[in-house]
Amino acid sequence: MQRPPNFYSDNGLDRADRLRGDTDWLAARLAAASTRFVPLWRTRSLFDPPAGAEPGAAPRAVLLEAAEAAALIARGGERIFLGLDAEDRAYFALDLSSLDSPDHEPALAGRGSFADLRAFGPLLPRQEGAILAYARGMVWWHDRHSFCGVCGARTESRQGGFQRQCSNPDCGAAHFPRTDPAVIMLVHDGADRCVLGRQKVWLPGMHSTLAGFVEPGESLEEAVAREVEEEVGLAVEEVVYHSSQPWPFPSSMMLGFHARTRDSQLRVHPEELEDARWFERDFLLASPENEAFRLPRPDSIARRLIVDWLEGRA
Ligand SMILES: [Zn+2]
Repeated sequence: MQRPPNFYSDNGLDRADRLRGDTDWLAARLAAASTRFVPLWRTRSLFDPPAGAEPGAAPRAVLLEAAEAAALIARGGERIFLGLDAEDRAYFALDLSSLDSPDHEPALAGRGSFADLRAFGPLLPRQEGAILAYARGMVWWHDRHSFCGVCGARTESRQGGFQRQCSNPDCGAAHFPRTDPAVIMLVHDGADRCVLGRQKVWLPGMHSTLAGFVEPGESLEEAVAREVEEEVGLAVEEVVYHSSQPWPFPSSMMLGFHARTRDSQLRVHPEELEDARWFERDFLLASPENEAFRLPRPDSIARRLIVDWLEGRA
């Protein structure tokens, strides 16, 4: 069953990989008046209204036009071709991380403030949030792959930013953007109870699904079973795929599942979780969100997994 898209997916852009190798086309689009640039500064996106504006003002992503971006491009930041929108406008991510203080750049004066996408994600129009997430993930990957993982030489951007090529002719390794698969699962008893846990660093009262990274040499189903056993000591016997979510904070791909268990005795691993408990469906449906109990953030697939199970869409 195809479910509605999760936050940070479905950005509406045609990624147009057929055009990534056409350097003349890319150069023309970088200078075109219709082109839009998504600025990133040290993983932060640009938002308007500025931080500190009146409470309740809805944030919007600030995209720059070619004329505004020209002075910033001249400073040498990485540009990554993201794709084309329905009006054939090209979108590029523009990495401004080499600037010491972007708030003082004349080209950005009055345009807003840089902030972490996670602060505003749930409040943004969905496609806007998805474009910022996409740009964030790409810029982060470039930032951490300036040197070849094989020989240590410098790498250079190719294919509109979808490849980094080792500059050492004796090596020549090509590196491609990567995303790390993680499984995230709501464990339930096949009836009206589910398991939620919490980590010490989370907001007070927040309880969420279990999750963990997929390891080499295991299937997703095995990763679900292993993580559930490690974190709460339950054996799962039915693992059903739900949906996925890009989570570029910094580089994860969340793969969501519902998992049924016949066990009921929790054995919480103290190094993994501060607490984990069985929760009744009726409690969760009626529960206020406060410091005693709250569900995970509204833009997370964790919340989606819980709400769909509560409403019978497991
Ligand atoms: Zn190399």
